[in-house]
Amino acid sequence: MPCPQWIVFDAVGTLITPSPTVAEAYAAVGQRYGVAVPVDVIRQRFRQAFRDSESSCFPAERRGRTSEAEEITRWRWIVQTVLPEANNTEACFQDLWAHFADPQQWRCYDDVAPVLTELKRRGLGIAMASNFDQRLPRVCDGLDELSGIDRVFVSSALGARKPDPLFYRAVADELNVDSRALLMIGDDVECDVMGPKQAGWQALCLRRDSSSSDDSLLSLHDLVQWLELSPAAVGG
Ligand SMILES: [Mg+2]
Repeated sequence: MPCPQWIVFDAVGTLITPSPTVAEAYAAVGQRYGVAVPVDVIRQRFRQAFRDSESSCFPAERRGRTSEAEEITRWRWIVQTVLPEANNTEACFQDLWAHFADPQQWRCYDDVAPVLTELKRRGLGIAMASNFDQRLPRVCDGLDELSGIDRVFVSSALGARKPDPLFYRAVADELNVDSRALLMIGDDVECDVMGPKQAGWQALCLRRDSSSSDDSLLSLHDLVQWLELSPAAVGG
């Protein structure tokens, strides 16, 4: 494998995380609309709704594809499904949409700033590639730790969602490099490891909550070590 030229990071769970959590944010916003449901229940509902949204919101022929309009429709459906008790579902959805567009509602993991600085020092290109929408570039702009990121790709603009092969092809085309020179890092095995590998990329899984000793990264610091030790880096 050639030495990576671009490190392509997933966003949520990899570089950034919502703070407060998604369930806490839904509970707080829901409260404004008369919802009095425990955070634990909201967390369960959200997990289920997020999983179901693909099949519920996209017709079979649009599976794996997306657009900005379809993402808005999907998130409206998720909010309505998680908070059916809201006395004004559209206003509740709009508040939550604005909430997650606000950089102040997100934080970067502690290893992000030092590792991105180190990757820059090594002359690597840094990109973010996410199943997110046009809100993500704005969120990134508001987080100082992410200032080293050269390109931000979102599925709603590319027209395809991870793990659809079209997503990775569109990113590689945009970056105009051989797929083998791209290294994807992310916390979702299907979207961030299997999908990219099938597209000819290199890929490593990040498992922040694990202590297992498989070939996953436990933090982004492990990525720097991996680059040191990878045969391509040693060889060239
Ligand atoms: Mg993720």
